[in-house]
Amino acid sequence: SNPLLSVRDLHTTFDTDDGTVRAVDGVSFDVDAGETVCLVGESGSGKTVACESITKLIPTPPGEIAAGEVRFDGEDLTSLPDKQLTEYRGGRIGHVFQNPQGALDPVYTVGDQLVEAIRLHRDVPKSAARERAHSLLDRVGIGDVEDRIDDYPHQFSGGMKQRVVVAMALACDPDLLIADEPTTALDVTIQAQVLRLLDELQDERGMAMLFVTHDLGVVAEIADRVVVMYAGKVMETGDVYQVFENPSHPYTKALLECLPGRGRALETIGGTLPDPTDPPDGCRFHPRCPHAVPACEDGDQPAFEDVGGSHQASCVLYGADYDEPELAEANDD
Ligand code: SF4
Repeated sequence: SNPLLSVRDLHTTFDTDDGTVRAVDGVSFDVDAGETVCLVGESGSGKTVACESITKLIPTPPGEIAAGEVRFDGEDLTSLPDKQLTEYRGGRIGHVFQNPQGALDPVYTVGDQLVEAIRLHRDVPKSAARERAHSLLDRVGIGDVEDRIDDYPHQFSGGMKQRVVVAMALACDPDLLIADEPTTALDVTIQAQVLRLLDELQDERGMAMLFVTHDLGVVAEIADRVVVMYAGKVMETGDVYQVFENPSHPYTKALLECLPGRGRALETIGGTLPDPTDPPDGCRFHPRCPHAVPACEDGDQPAFEDVGGSHQASCVLYGADYDEPELAEANDD
């Protein structure tokens, strides 16, 4: 059957004074109904922009979806007019962002905001929407809902605010929840609670989740599948067990070597992300790659090679016509 979400050769660019930033540069991935896919990478890898491109949440201009397709349940969202897209946003596709503050309006109570979110997409009377708001707040663990439903966002702690945002995202029973670093702004203990909540909700509602994170510890906990991004491109993709057991792309290997130590992960790889207005030829990772060979420096990003099952890596080391000298010698013994 067709995937619920199919992103194909997506290119999202931003015009800046320094030139065109190709934030997402030919990215493809799928999310099946009911599954959790994690987009993982350093900040600047393009993972957030890829997510925001799905329902065109990027500011245009300076942003532009320059090419590619985003099919949701068969419909190409990139070609839909804004009015139709808004029916998906907060409807069949829910969003939870990093900063709960920005997702809530300070001048309305959380109950009123939930009622509005529900009625934006569903033709139900206020009383029914209020009942639903009540049960959603209860489900996300607000506690004492009767007392809290008419409170304003500033009356909630950061973790509780994020729970309210999760309730908003669930207002219309989405088929896909897009969660972009939803726990990063929270205290560590609260992070774990919100993560567990999302995992439970995903399970219990059978919705798919596209989860963006820089934290491989989080990936290990919740993902079915992983898409590793670097400098606007996908480096490796596969089942979470395959990728953790047998990381194949040197970038993924470097990321995993930074574990454990949740949160500090990626800074420990030497070097920095390339200039996004002028990325290197060949493999984007070659200036930082400990295994780079001359073939890595020219042409385009290497094609995806199968490294087992549905597990693929974009690296010349796995190409059919690449003969690694030492390996060849070792095999002669
Ligand atoms: Fe390293 Fe070359 Fe593979 Fe890129 S293609 S990850 S530079 S070995």
